[in-house]
Amino acid sequence: SNKVASGTRTQGILVVISGPSGVGKGTVCSALRKSAPELIYSVSATTRMPRTGEMEGVNYFFKSKEEFKQLIENEEMLEWAEYVGNYYGTPRKFVEDTLATGKDVILEIEVQGALKVKQKFPEGVFIFLMPPSLSELQNRLVTRGTDSAELIASRLSVARDEIALLEHYNYAVVNDQVENACSKIMAIITAEHCRRERL
Ligand code: 5GP
Repeated sequence: SNKVASGTRTQGILVVISGPSGVGKGTVCSALRKSAPELIYSVSATTRMPRTGEMEGVNYFFKSKEEFKQLIENEEMLEWAEYVGNYYGTPRKFVEDTLATGKDVILEIEVQGALKVKQKFPEGVFIFLMPPSLSELQNRLVTRGTDSAELIASRLSVARDEIALLEHYNYAVVNDQVENACSKIMAIITAEHCRRERL
């Protein structure tokens, strides 16, 4: 959808989807992947252990703490954050190269990282995915069944602080139903393309 005008291809749009853990970022992004295959997803690096079914290079690039620190030192990370005891980060080169080809890139990251990306890419589109309520968020973390009670409590307290960061975003999307959230995100991206349209 990005036109080649006057021999120059415009940069793709960097779309950052963030919000508290358990809000359903992963589920919404999987649905988005199916509905909008032209969007390119950045695969993050992490030091946490793979969950059952997760695959290297598909869900994450799984790294040791030492490897991760080396990536930071080599300035290979666009952003990184420490979250509930593990490091998570976005490989920089993939994002820059993909945007340069005119394709839109989706980052699905937590809020600290999103704020760092905003400093480097103020022209990006920052979408805050919201739970319908905090008790709904707690239900989802419990139902997912992947985290201990202690970890859920810790993620919830992080979530309260994260929701306060809404003001730094361009858009808020309430994740009441995955299909609703997904179509709103697609509408936002379409609108942003129209907003940047040039002859
Ligand atoms: P999980 O362990 O549940 O896969 O992810 C925990 C949190 O880390 C989620 O909120 C997820 O969006 C976030 N996350 C995943 N990749 C990245 C990344 O590259 N950078 C940052 N800052 N957060 C990430």
